[in-house]
Amino acid sequence: MRIFAIAGIPIRLNPCFALMIAAYIAAGLGPQVAVLCVVVIAHELAHLLVARTCGVEVIGIELFPFGGMAKTGGMPADEPVVEAVIATAGPLNNFLLYGLGLAVRGLFGDTDLVSFYLDATMSLGLFNLLPALPLDGGRILRAFVARSLGYSPATAVLSRMGKAVALGLLVWGVYSALAGNLVPNAFAFAFFLYAAGRHEIEASRFLVVSALMAKRRALVKKRVMPLERVVALGALTVAEICPRLSPTRHHVVTVVNDSGHIVGQLWESELLDGFFSGRGGLTLEELVRGGPRDRGDPPDRTHGNAG
Ligand SMILES: [Zn+2]
Repeated sequence: MRIFAIAGIPIRLNPCFALMIAAYIAAGLGPQVAVLCVVVIAHELAHLLVARTCGVEVIGIELFPFGGMAKTGGMPADEPVVEAVIATAGPLNNFLLYGLGLAVRGLFGDTDLVSFYLDATMSLGLFNLLPALPLDGGRILRAFVARSLGYSPATAVLSRMGKAVALGLLVWGVYSALAGNLVPNAFAFAFFLYAAGRHEIEASRFLVVSALMAKRRALVKKRVMPLERVVALGALTVAEICPRLSPTRHHVVTVVNDSGHIVGQLWESELLDGFFSGRGGLTLEELVRGGPRDRGDPPDRTHGNAG
């Protein structure tokens, strides 16, 4: 349900959260819920305003019982740093709001609501910096890890961290409930984090393909790219190695057999041609040797023009 828009960015309220707000208001917690909404909306708004400045399509904000979600179009796959900048904006905004809250407290004195606001904005900023997907800290870290590991392995590692955080939250939720302090949001958020970790892995497959498509244009766009030499086992398939290509470097792959002897060399363009022409199932050794069907005699690529 759309409630309003700020700077042209629509803000929607999830129906579950709408019911929860009504329950909190009925329980006399209206001011606290209002403070939480302001803090969460400001966090998500910071992400989206920076995204818009970076030229990324902005869809809107949705508020859930466990917090907010800023929705954007696809991130530029050949510029992972853009995602990191957008992710940093949220927690940074919380820390700026915390400073503002301290100034207000200094000028007008402390109240329960001001203390609640300070705790809420600091907790949101710190929690989001945990190095786990889909949290902001995970996105920031992925941008840097993806440069060397590639999107797919980086996403897998950081999504596993997200699941670990979800389990930690679940244990904490159960522990708090047994101690007589039930926090329903902890369970909702643990469930969300766990499910979102799986979603990130699925989404990363799309991201990998768009990253590879962006790679084909990257050299033309950037004109000069650093060259990275890697060594890979000939038994790896083209589909397995392509997602490991760094989005910011051009690669030359030296292919070796099980005993470590060099079989040949592949340029990134050959790998991408293989991937996009439906030959992702070929092993690197088959590609070097010309493939089982579409090439003739194996060319001698061992001393290629890598110079
Ligand atoms: Zn965030």
